[in-house]
Formats: sequence, structure tokens, C-alpha cells
Amino acid sequence: MKKKVKAEYNYGMSDFKLFWEEAVKVLYSEYENQNRADEFNLWINAIDYVDSHDSVVFVSVPSTFFKEQLIRRGDITKLQSIIYNLSGQNIKFEFKIKPKDSNPSSSKNNNRNQPIIETPDKKDGPVVVPNKNKDKQHPQLSERYSFANFVYGDNSVFAYNAALAVAKNPGKAYNPVLLYGGVGLGKTHLMQAIGNYAWKESNAKIIYITAENFTNEFIKALGQGQTAISKFKDKYRSVDILLIDDIHFLQKKDGTQEELFHTFNALYDSNKQIVFTCDRPVSELKNLSDRLRSRFERGLNVDLQPPDYETRRAIVEKKLEENKKSLSPEIIDFIAHNIASNVRDLEAAIVKIVAYNELINKKDISIETAGQLLRDVISSPKQSNLSIDTIIKVIAEEYGLSSSDVKGKKRTKNVIMPRQIAMYIAREITEFSTTEIGAEFGRDHTTVVHSCQKIEEAIQADSKFDSKIQLLIRKVKDYKKSI
Ligand code: ADP
Ligand code: MG
Repeated sequence: MKKKVKAEYNYGMSDFKLFWEEAVKVLYSEYENQNRADEFNLWINAIDYVDSHDSVVFVSVPSTFFKEQLIRRGDITKLQSIIYNLSGQNIKFEFKIKPKDSNPSSSKNNNRNQPIIETPDKKDGPVVVPNKNKDKQHPQLSERYSFANFVYGDNSVFAYNAALAVAKNPGKAYNPVLLYGGVGLGKTHLMQAIGNYAWKESNAKIIYITAENFTNEFIKALGQGQTAISKFKDKYRSVDILLIDDIHFLQKKDGTQEELFHTFNALYDSNKQIVFTCDRPVSELKNLSDRLRSRFERGLNVDLQPPDYETRRAIVEKKLEENKKSLSPEIIDFIAHNIASNVRDLEAAIVKIVAYNELINKKDISIETAGQLLRDVISSPKQSNLSIDTIIKVIAEEYGLSSSDVKGKKRTKNVIMPRQIAMYIAREITEFSTTEIGAEFGRDHTTVVHSCQKIEEAIQADSKFDSKIQLLIRKVKDYKKSI
């Protein structure tokens, strides 16, 4: 009897579609209660239910990276536990990767490869907007930055989607938006793509300016007296979309920070769109007023990471196609393999090789020649940098530990401090970002930031500790020389 009930029960439970749908709703309300609906749209909305067998639920996600992030964020465990509460069954998730399509066009966001962001409709806007900008270029924006020619990969798909959502629904989708990441990764490109798109599609008043020019303009106005200052304030407070590039420049610029804070509030309160870019997470900016920092962090913060090999290849191919140039597959491969730092360097490499090809009038340049031409870029300071592994090795030796102790998950006192020191030194003497350093330790960037703070505090409090760190840094550098 008992057996039969169990069999029926299992049979009834083998399709988890309804439970899945319910669980997603429950999770949505959790996110919404915490004012994190944006995040829900980026992450959870991109998971598709596929099927279920016994207690395995098959879902599809845009990429392996995406899957790992979902797990890391705890969303998967949460969904499992909600489904358990609803169905009484402990389910397991199996992930399938959605097939990759080609890049979407600038006007449609129907790509299966991408998480589709549901953005609010422009219900309260005018139905037909006579478009005065269709054939004119915005004076501060460059036409070459569009969504159509931005090649995204796992490293940039969220930033791309967030930017597109903002361009389609300024002031309504996500506000403010902060795009951050290292040099040459496409921050300015995406920011200007937002501007270009909104400019063509609406009559929005848009200003694009670098934080540096914003500062200069403000200082100039201050020197010219009250009328100029009022004019400056009015100009920036009366736009529909304000795009400010490279806000890391504002560090230590107290007066400009104050002015931007008020500009921000005025725009934000009237639902005008604000977008910023920065070369690092806001938490890592120094000499920034707390209230401005909290404004930057208020909305959606998305990072751009360096592209992986596949994406780099796609970028090289796209750039060649745009410029109606061609290179042999081997050379394309060579560039994509060797220029890993950022897209700006990739572009420079292509220009150099194409120019050589045309000037010397050879059809197919050899790998050797390509290597010589790109020598400066390939052995850039960033790439000849000390590896984090070397740092870990030196610290491990110093404290009588193994490298895997320093990198590992153990939380005993004797490993925590050396681990924090290793992260701190990596941050001090290499060009790696906190995200990259964190990855070496199987942790995220917040742990690295926290560790660096701890060590900085200890250095401040104890000059002996300071000398110890300096000594370790020397050892790391000498280690490099001796091998
Ligand atoms: P950042 O502002 O992050 O320093 P940029 O936006 O100026 O970087 O990008 C550097 C160059 O690389 C620009 O010419 C830009 O068009 C190009 N670029 C960056 N990312 C991409 C991408 N994903 N696809 C195509 N081109 C890109
Ligand atoms: Mg830029």
C-alpha cells in the first residue's frame, strides 16, 4: 500500500513546470522587496525551463559562465529550496547551454543567446514622436559607437543588455546605470551607443561629457561668476539623459563632486536617465564623498571583463568586416590568441597588420612577421607582470605553508593573514583587477577589497608590520629575477 502511494506521488511530481513557474514568482517577490528587480531581470529571467524527469529539472542558460554565476550568487540553491517548500521534493538542476546566435541588430533584442530584459513599456510617453534627429548626428557623440557593432561575449553580455534596455527606455529601465571595468573594454562604446540610440529614436535631450570636461567646465563657470554658474547648473539639470564618462577622474575634486551630487538629485527626482562609467567598482574609488558614492551605487552597477578567446576572435572578424579588410584565419587566430588584454589593443594590432599588408603589398603576412610587428603589444607591461602565483608562492614559503593553503578555503588563523597579505601585495604591485585577483583565490572581488583594507589598517597601526610587508614585496620582486 505504502509503495503504491509513493509511486503515484512520484508520478504526479515528475513534471515540475508549474512548481518552477511558481518558484520564479516567489523569488521575484523576494528580489522586488529588496528593490532588486533589475537584478532579477538580468539573471533569473534568462533561465528557461526545459523539462524534468524524476527529480531532475532541466533548464537552459545563456552560457557556462552564466550558470556558474547563478550558482555563486545562491539563486540556484534558493530556487531548489522554494521548490522543496512547494512540492516536498528535493530536486536537482541540470543545465543546458542555449545555442549561440550571431549578434543582434541594433533595433531588435530577440537574441536567444542573451538574457531578455523585460523593460517597462513606454505607456505614458507620446505615441508618435516626430523625430527631428533621424538624419542628424548628435554633436558630442561619435557615430561609430553603436549596439550593432558591439560584439558581446560572456564578459560583456550583461552590460550590453543593460545598456540596450536603458537606450530603449531612458529613465525607466534602470537608473542610474554604472558601467565599470578596465581600460579599452568598451565602456565609452556602450555609453555612446545608448546616446546614439536614444537620439535617433526620440527627441530626448542628451549630454555626453567626460568627468574631466565636466570638471573643467564647472571650474570655468566658477571663475566667470554667478550667471555662468546658473547657466551651467541649468544646462545639466534640464537634460533627459546625462552620460558622464570616467567618473574616477572626480576623485579629490570636492567642489565638482558636490555639484554633481546636486545635478544627480535633480535629474533622478524627475526620472531622467543618468549613466556613468568608471575604471573600477565604486567601492574602490578613493577620496569620494560618501553621499556621492551612495548615489553611484544606487542603481544598476555592471562590470565589463576582458573578452575571452572566442569573443576576441569574433571582434577581430567584425572589425575586419567593418573596414572591408581581410586576413588569413591563421593570422586572425594569432591576434586573438596573443592580444588578450582589451579591445583597444586588439584594434591597434589589426590596424598595424593590415597597414603592413597593404604597404608591403603581400597577401598573407607570416606568423613570424606578425609576431615582430606586435612585439610591443604582446610584451606590454601588463602581460610581463608578476603572476599572482609567484606572490602566493613567496608568501607561502615565508609562513611555512603550501600554496594551496594560501589559496584555499581554510579559515584558520594561520592561513587567513598570509592570504590577506598575498591579496594585498597582488593589488599593490600588479595591474590585476580585484576581480582577477579574487579569481586566483576562488573568491570574488569584495573579499579582495576587504583583505586589502585589513592589511592597510594593520600597516597604519604598526610600523613593524609595514616593514614586514615591504620586505615581502622585495622578496616577491627578487623571486621574479632569480627565475
Ligand atoms: P573604454 O571606454 O572601456 O576604455 P572604449 O569604449 O573606448 O573602452 O573601447 C575601446 C575601443 O574598442 C573602441 O574603439 C571600441 O569601439 C572598441 N570596442 C570595445 N569593446 C568592443 C566590443 N565588445 N565590440 C566591438 N568593439 C569594441
Ligand atoms: Mg572610455
